[in-house]
Amino acid sequence: MLERVPLLEKDLDAYSEIVGTEVVARIRELAEPLRGARVLHVNATAYGGGVAELLATHVPLLRSAGLAADWQVIRGSDEFFKVTKSVHNALQGGDVEWTRTMEAAYLENVLDNALRLEGAFDFVVVHDPQPAALRSFVRDRTLRHEGTKWIWRGHIDLTDADPKVWEFYRPFVELHDAAVFTMPEFVPDTLELEPLVAPPCIDPLSVKNLDLPRPFGEELCKQYGVDVRRPFVCQVSRYDPWKDPIGVIDAFRIVREKVTDAQLVLAGSMATDDPEGFQVWEEVQQARADDPDIHLLSNIQQVGNVQINAFQRLAAVVIQKSIREGFGLTVSEALWKGRPVVGGRAGGIVLQIRDGYDGYLVDSVEECAARTIDLLADPVGADAMGAQGREHVRQNFLCTRELEDWLRLFTQLRA
Ligand code: UDP
Repeated sequence: MLERVPLLEKDLDAYSEIVGTEVVARIRELAEPLRGARVLHVNATAYGGGVAELLATHVPLLRSAGLAADWQVIRGSDEFFKVTKSVHNALQGGDVEWTRTMEAAYLENVLDNALRLEGAFDFVVVHDPQPAALRSFVRDRTLRHEGTKWIWRGHIDLTDADPKVWEFYRPFVELHDAAVFTMPEFVPDTLELEPLVAPPCIDPLSVKNLDLPRPFGEELCKQYGVDVRRPFVCQVSRYDPWKDPIGVIDAFRIVREKVTDAQLVLAGSMATDDPEGFQVWEEVQQARADDPDIHLLSNIQQVGNVQINAFQRLAAVVIQKSIREGFGLTVSEALWKGRPVVGGRAGGIVLQIRDGYDGYLVDSVEECAARTIDLLADPVGADAMGAQGREHVRQNFLCTRELEDWLRLFTQLRA
């Protein structure tokens, strides 16, 4: 059996206060004909990164809506995760070596997982490239999956994907009954499958996003050496070159020439499926150069959801300076807390930040610094942008909207 991820309980009705009773009633109506449907979500990691974050809410909400939903993760050797990290980089437009040996290592590992897949399901949702070939192995193996609808959920920006790597994956993706993407721009022209678009969302009732009394948040920040009497900016991200943590440090150094008491918090988790994380951490540590006002933090120092909540909430400005991005949940997380966000003009960040309204979209270190300085100089304007961002998130990027999208998709696939 694949490893099942233990889940919290979520009550759909609890979201009425935030999104309105009519939204919850609509979801219940959509879910009624799907009552009891067996849904399995499969991905590569139970924590760290956006997909794990999404599933931790989405699967319990499917249950609360009456479906029999489960989340399982595939296993992988170090070699497998090295290969799939290269795949991730190649699909985001990076230059990587792609060999037959890598293909074989990938397929062997997925086959091993396919043999462990147990149970019967009405819908199997396969996230990202790591488990993408599961369907091809399961198809030939057993009749128990006859009638199962398979959906591939691609979270990656494929606009500049390396053709060799994408062509390797494409036939596996095309074995699915549907493919879901974050933005229409991410759908490759070569894909012979009708795509659907459903951007990810955040959970306003998760520990990461729940309201937090200010004194409690301040205490948490202080425990990590952050002086809460001085302004700080923060970026929350895996230690990944595409998130450009070094660019954030460069921008911060420019900011500090003008706002001399500013501090920077960089918080990033190490995910089990991301072997590059430790190396990038080292590089960022070097770039920090023992600067006491740059706080470099990770889950290894017990930075968990509640600390992330405090950093995002108390930051004067939140930065997400990605060069490539699937969606960038951290942007909606910050906007929901009423903070303006300076974000790289990449992927799903452009859906979340309306430039000049909820924050700013930037294309360079210098621009990132200039916009951050503007916001630090005008706290009232910054709060107003944050408040606009919160409403934008309420309308578009809360988990009830995503739940509705998926229930509609399941309904369509059953018809
Ligand atoms: N995150 C976290 N702790 C960290 C760094 C990141 O909990 O130290 C969370 C972050 O709050 C967000 C998710 O991991 O919920 C990252 O999702 P995003 O879509 O921003 O990026 P991804 O990692 O999927 O590329």
